[in-house]
Amino acid sequence: MPQLRALTAAALAVLTAGGLTACGHASHARTAAPVASRGADGGRPSQTPGNGPPSSPSPLTPPPSPPSPPASATPSGSPTGSPTTTTPSGFPRSRNGLPPVISRIPVQDKIVFITIDDGWEKDADFVRLIRDERIPVTLFLANMAVKKDYGYFRELQQAGALIEDHTMTHPYLPRLSYKRQKQEICDSAAIYATQYGTRPTLFRAPYGATDHDTLRAARDCGMKAIFFWREVVSNGKIAYQVPGKLHRGDILLVHFNPHMTPDFKRMLRTIKKQGFTPAAFRDHLPPQFFE
Ligand SMILES: [Zn+2]
Repeated sequence: MPQLRALTAAALAVLTAGGLTACGHASHARTAAPVASRGADGGRPSQTPGNGPPSSPSPLTPPPSPPSPPASATPSGSPTGSPTTTTPSGFPRSRNGLPPVISRIPVQDKIVFITIDDGWEKDADFVRLIRDERIPVTLFLANMAVKKDYGYFRELQQAGALIEDHTMTHPYLPRLSYKRQKQEICDSAAIYATQYGTRPTLFRAPYGATDHDTLRAARDCGMKAIFFWREVVSNGKIAYQVPGKLHRGDILLVHFNPHMTPDFKRMLRTIKKQGFTPAAFRDHLPPQFFE
């Protein structure tokens, strides 16, 4: 797949040039080549993240982050390692009952989907922005980042945000056994069910790093789909996989950060300038993803 490889290389170049990372803060930005989740050979990641997962992460100190895999890569856990096939609806096909891995939503309209990960920073202005402007967002929350203030995310939920699963402690999942991966995914889902009244059915793996056990664990925790992303947004600036522009159905990855509100407004201006509108997962994903 030369085209895919070229695209992937371009994406890596963009990510690397920008020093952008998934699930981290600017202070942890690094320039090493992304390492997680390679799908071309269907194998496990051949390298581990430079600093490795945190051994005793503090709730106030987000863990160092390995760079994200390109969203276009097939996850390493793909049961066959073959290119992703799609259903008539355009969604990746679920194989062997495992949840499909999605980085783009098949839509006709000029819409994109904003996802926000982790939950370290809790900015009251941001709740007002989401509520007043009615901006649809999906939150993939890591319990260790949100447990000091579940109420903050309840306010976001009441403002329309969808709350979904991003593990208990934000580990690099492929390093863990199936059993521990399942604990990471199921335990946070159970907590959010209690805290937010709805059990998550959508999952994003920390660092976008998955293996076959991750897909099994996610399925066994009731997750109906696993989400990657197309663009990483850092400090309000969008890093494009295809340089320069958004595409219909792109999933944008943002992190809660100390300058959340101004950064988010900057991103919204960029989205609008390109003629796109943020849309809600709930309106564009199959209903069975939420059952
Ligand atoms: Zn994360």
